[in-house]
Formats: sequence, C-alpha cells, structure tokens
Amino acid sequence: MGPFRLAIIAGLIYLIYRLLTRPEKGRNHVAGRQGQNMDDLLVEDPVCHTYVPQKDSECLKSHGKTYYFCSQECRQKFKDNNP
Ligand SMILES: [Zn+2]
Repeated sequence: MGPFRLAIIAGLIYLIYRLLTRPEKGRNHVAGRQGQNMDDLLVEDPVCHTYVPQKDSECLKSHGKTYYFCSQECRQKFKDNNP
C-alpha cells in the first residue's frame, strides 16, 4: 500500500507544479506590453483644442510651461498671440 500512495502523491505534485508554472509565462508577456502605453500620452493643442500624441506634437517652452501643438502652424499662431 505504501509505495502506491507515494506514486499518487508524486503524480499530484507534478500536476500542481505544471499548473502553477504555465500561466507564469503568459503573465510576463502581458507585463512587457504595458510599458508601451507611456508613449501614447495625449496632449491638448491650446490653439485648435485637438488632442495629439505627445511624441508626434510640436512643443514650445514659454514662461516656464511646455505647450504642445498639432502642427507648426498652430505653434506659430500661439507665438504670435503670446509674445
Ligand atoms: Zn492645432
């Protein structure tokens, strides 16, 4: 009876081990994707009030603040109105 029970316990431990280790790989993959969301931050253009991704915007530092614009045209308009 003894060795038979040991075999069942060993089999259960192996099954639990496989169940615990499998989802771990999937989780790591998802964590790697979340880091990219930082690049998609949207900023508001103060001239035409559209939202543009910060990485694609025209930026202007003025009076200690940073402004973001959808185009160089809007950036120039803002400069003309706020000398
Ligand atoms: Zn604009």
